[in-house]
Amino acid sequence: MDCVFCKIIAGEIPCYKVYENDDVLAFLDINPISPGHTLIIPKKHTLDISSVDNETITKIMDVVRILRTRMENKLNIDGLTLIQNNGDAQEVKHLHFHLKPYYKDEKELSVEEIYNLLKED
Ligand code: 5GP
Ligand code: ZN
Repeated sequence: MDCVFCKIIAGEIPCYKVYENDDVLAFLDINPISPGHTLIIPKKHTLDISSVDNETITKIMDVVRILRTRMENKLNIDGLTLIQNNGDAQEVKHLHFHLKPYYKDEKELSVEEIYNLLKED
């Protein structure tokens, strides 16, 4: 299948992986809106919020909570915005949730620094 996120799951395209379990993968966005901008995706290909089953949404939200805590502890975020695009607003046609950290003050961190802070111990 010609899906960039399925290729990331298969290891055919590299990524900065920050969380993985049997069903869900989370990695840093290649073009971050803010430092630590992360994408969470189901490993089973599905298009969007209409096609995904509720069990998978629950599994994704569990990872949202894990990463929120990790971002608070490791990146000192002051807030977190969730974004999930559909239809013409969605560029990559594999369901994903954006986690966009919010900082009160400007944050200057390289992608390697963010990855080293956010990845699993
Ligand atoms: P959306 O489909 O919600 O508009 O956004 C897709 C997101 O995927 C964008 O923020 C874009 O930067 C990110 N993205 C697209 N291709 C890749 C890739 O190959 N690797 C990573 N890490 N992110 C990607
Ligand atoms: Zn896919």
